[in-house]
Amino acid sequence: GAGAGIPTTEWLCERVLAALGRMGVEVPGGTGLTALTPVTGEPLCTLLAADAAEVDAAVAAAHEAFPGWRATPPPRRGELVRRLGDLLRAHKEDVADLVTAEAGKIRSEALGEVQEMIDVCDFAVGLSRQLYGRTIASERPGHRLAESWHPLGVVGVVSAFNFPCAVWSWNTAVALVCGDPVVWKPSEVTPLTSVACHGLLRRAARDVGAPPEVHQLLLGGRGVGAALVDDPRVALLSATGSTRMGREVGPRVAARLGRSLLELGGNNAAIVAPSADLDLAVRAIVFAAAGTAGQRCTSLRRLLVHRDVADEVAERLTAAYRGLPVGDPFAEGTLVGPLIRMSALERMRDGLGRARAEGGAVLAGGGRVLADRAPEAAYAQPALVRMPGQTAVVREETFAPLLYVLEYDGLEQAIALHNDVPQGLSSAIFTRDQREAEVFLSAEGSDCGIANVNIGTSGAEIGGAFGGEKDTGGGRESGSDAWRAYMRRATNTVNYGSELALAQNVSFL
Ligand code: NAD
Repeated sequence: GAGAGIPTTEWLCERVLAALGRMGVEVPGGTGLTALTPVTGEPLCTLLAADAAEVDAAVAAAHEAFPGWRATPPPRRGELVRRLGDLLRAHKEDVADLVTAEAGKIRSEALGEVQEMIDVCDFAVGLSRQLYGRTIASERPGHRLAESWHPLGVVGVVSAFNFPCAVWSWNTAVALVCGDPVVWKPSEVTPLTSVACHGLLRRAARDVGAPPEVHQLLLGGRGVGAALVDDPRVALLSATGSTRMGREVGPRVAARLGRSLLELGGNNAAIVAPSADLDLAVRAIVFAAAGTAGQRCTSLRRLLVHRDVADEVAERLTAAYRGLPVGDPFAEGTLVGPLIRMSALERMRDGLGRARAEGGAVLAGGGRVLADRAPEAAYAQPALVRMPGQTAVVREETFAPLLYVLEYDGLEQAIALHNDVPQGLSSAIFTRDQREAEVFLSAEGSDCGIANVNIGTSGAEIGGAFGGEKDTGGGRESGSDAWRAYMRRATNTVNYGSELALAQNVSFL
């Protein structure tokens, strides 16, 4: 059963190599970067990190590929993305193996992450025939006013460890059909997953006869990311990660008048109203807060419960938390895998310590587990903490399974508490009262980019635009019209008459 054992690093290595082999992907051997598995906390292998010359060469190659790719009709560009989707379908289990080995996601969530990539490929293929511009009513006779969307240029993608491939696919599938080459700097924590994705995309390019240069992979740490940030050939820098990272990256891209798309930290809350269906709410809350070991940007971190149901919700959650199986993410039955690094466990401990000092009572979890079987790994029992109010620690994002439970009396107070944090990513209300639900979704309600009713904060579908406000950075990716960030808009006025009519009735000559 779950937690009964932790596989050996040797077994993990073999599993990873087998998956890479089935995908026909070669790992760039060398030094500079260590692939480590959070399952045991031990190294799997070392890889070659890119140096400054390689960063320059990759950006140059992508930049040179741009004119040809820009001139390729969008539906033809879509064929590359369709082929990528086919390869991801064929290698769903293999990519999921890498996600579990490197990010520590349980099997079902790792497969879900690959499914998300497949979904966004399908979306982007459809999009490749739908890059619509508007026709606008002109104020002048014999004139047509319209807008066209054109490819933007090289898109730099910097991604976080916790979605080692889905975030890449949101950006890349859409950017490619929009006519933009992509240079990807994945998290230094998940290099093997990125090598696999890059390998599959290069294979897709060979299969459909697309230029392979439209995708470049750069392995390395912050320095490699910073080189993309400062490179004027990178037209759009799409960066996913902590608010700290966004505060460094945003101003630097702005200083060269480049475009950035920032997807940063969250501090997501759910309101549980007295009318809530508690059976449904408790299941949704446990998945949102403890799923992915609390390491999603949309993980539920704050629960605002109406005073009338607070004790019952706390009791039910405590019971659910006590039974959560923590352990080997490859094992069937495990619901909570490891934290990514020992430093994440330390931050969780620190958060818990501060919560206690600020008047919190730990209802369940919080302790390290499996230290005997995996001394280098960071397994923790998800923590549930009842807080007397929204104290300093509650207003911060601690990237670990740490759920704070607070009470409220009226909806207005709950919404005020809800919005009184620096971040603005995802939010939810559990209620059967339609008025409450609509108020929460209205302009006076949640201030987040994602606002849900009767489902949790995490686990968005790709069809909607994904992102958040305030310290979350304001970017939108994936579905809806998020594609527009990857293109430039041209406004076209065509005079098909024989008179020269100036706008605003201006007369001249
Ligand atoms: P991180 O900020 O440490 O790193 C993210 C990426 O940015 C990495 O590739 C890293 O190398 C790079 N980076 C860091 N500093 C940089 C700099 N100064 N210049 C250029 N690149 C730099 O984040 P992480 O620990 O990998 O991920 C967890 C964080 O990401 C959490 O805060 C989480 O909420 C956030 N996140 C947000 C979203 C979203 O869509 N909003 C999605 C996933 C994760």
